[in-house]
Amino acid sequence: MSKTLQLVSKLTWLPKPLTRFLEKRAKSVPAIKKMIDKEYDKMLSGMEHTLKPYKHTTQSFAQLPDEGIPRNKVLEQVRELAEKEKTRWEEGYVSGGIYHGDEAHIGFLNEVYALQSQSNPLHSDLFPSITKYEAEIISMTANMLGAGKTDDEICGSISSGGTESILLAFKTYRDRAREEFGITAPEMITCTTAHAAFEKAAHYFGIKHVKVGFTANYQMDLDEVRRKITKNTIAIVGSAPAFPHGIIDPVEQLSEIALQNNIGLHVDCCLGGFVLPWAEELGYPVPPFDFRLKGVTSISADTHKYGYAAKGTSVILYRTRQLRSYQYYTTSEWPGGLYFSPTFAGSRPGALSAACWAAMVSMGREGYLQNTKKILETAAAIKTAINAIPELEVLGNPLFVIAFRSRVPGIDIYRVMDEMGKRHWNLNGLHKPACLHIAVTLRHTQPGVAERFAQDLQESVAAVKNIPATTEGSAPVYGMASGIPFRGMVTDLLKQYIDVLYKV
Ligand SMILES: *Cc1c(COP(=O)(O)O)cnc(C)c1O
Repeated sequence: MSKTLQLVSKLTWLPKPLTRFLEKRAKSVPAIKKMIDKEYDKMLSGMEHTLKPYKHTTQSFAQLPDEGIPRNKVLEQVRELAEKEKTRWEEGYVSGGIYHGDEAHIGFLNEVYALQSQSNPLHSDLFPSITKYEAEIISMTANMLGAGKTDDEICGSISSGGTESILLAFKTYRDRAREEFGITAPEMITCTTAHAAFEKAAHYFGIKHVKVGFTANYQMDLDEVRRKITKNTIAIVGSAPAFPHGIIDPVEQLSEIALQNNIGLHVDCCLGGFVLPWAEELGYPVPPFDFRLKGVTSISADTHKYGYAAKGTSVILYRTRQLRSYQYYTTSEWPGGLYFSPTFAGSRPGALSAACWAAMVSMGREGYLQNTKKILETAAAIKTAINAIPELEVLGNPLFVIAFRSRVPGIDIYRVMDEMGKRHWNLNGLHKPACLHIAVTLRHTQPGVAERFAQDLQESVAAVKNIPATTEGSAPVYGMASGIPFRGMVTDLLKQYIDVLYKV
């Protein structure tokens, strides 16, 4: 880190408008801009090596090869690289990421995928089997989330993932508000802990994103929600649970607030949709969070997480068909013919829907129940292990995504993350407050994994205590990211990081 950035990182006490002003000025001075760019280059070239590990070990193609490579050679390379990447997640060293991962389960999903790899639900006349699978996925998911316990006819769509589900919901709320209430300057309210996809939705659809803080137990601050509702508020968001700390927002109260103000309430169950219903049935303390609450008007639930489907599917549910209709796109003017599509994509991978359906019906209620039981028991063991380390503490009282931080000044939690990395672990680094989390999946329920986590965490904390800090690893990057008051600098850096990913 250069002296400038170090200096900048000490300016956190400056008021926000002033830092924004200073940042703008700083970047308009060519010498400063050059210095910042140089600093970025240095940081990113250090990362390039880790992000592109195959650069010098396998053949790469900046252009098409003149002659096609024989299929068996292609397969060989893909197999080799996949094998290299497999051990880490397979053995349960990764937070979240792969939610099921048993070989037989994956093989089964792949078989189903292969059978329908050419299908496309855009051509509903050619592939009515895919529309059947999708309708059933939606119905089964809705029934898990309270559809049978309300008079409303809960409906939905299949999307490509949690982010698309959330984007769709907010495009829907925006268009409904314009049409039915004449709102042209829409606003949405989320907790700061709500997923980044909500910020993305606000950004894409021109919705003002109003954020509220969280209380001492990491739940959305309801008083702040009440204060920040205006005549332009189109919807509020609760998470069940939120990604960072795995805590469920007070959805019951949010539902009351939504009803009183006649606004939408989206519950983000991307993470919890396929866990909480079963946790509740198993007797864990799960507060009401789904369509049983009258004020809940939409829910996102990710089949490609704890639904154990392959990556690339999620469900977005709505309380009424009228609300859902604002999501659809139809046109009768195009020379290409009458055209309609329910979600953002045109052509879609029907095979992923088939595989998702296969995952759900092969799992059944009993399958989800048993898997959830294993996950929650493992998560409880991991929670106990973290709290047994005097230097650490778990944030709040989560069920299966467990965030923890340092309780003592001498222990930098990002250095603990690096030490865990040396022991093969891949945990999520979070900030505001500085902490790490582990999303417990079926991978961690394998024998010995929770014990290994406890042992490695103990050793990592001891290592941080005994070895002085260096400037390598992610600790300085994270420390800097949370320290720099100039948020624009960090976002620029992230954009350059993406550029690196696209380099051959
Ligand atoms: C994963 C997640 C999302 C976004 O889902 P993607 O599938 O990554 O697009 C949204 N909200 C929560 C709570 C999540 O955990």
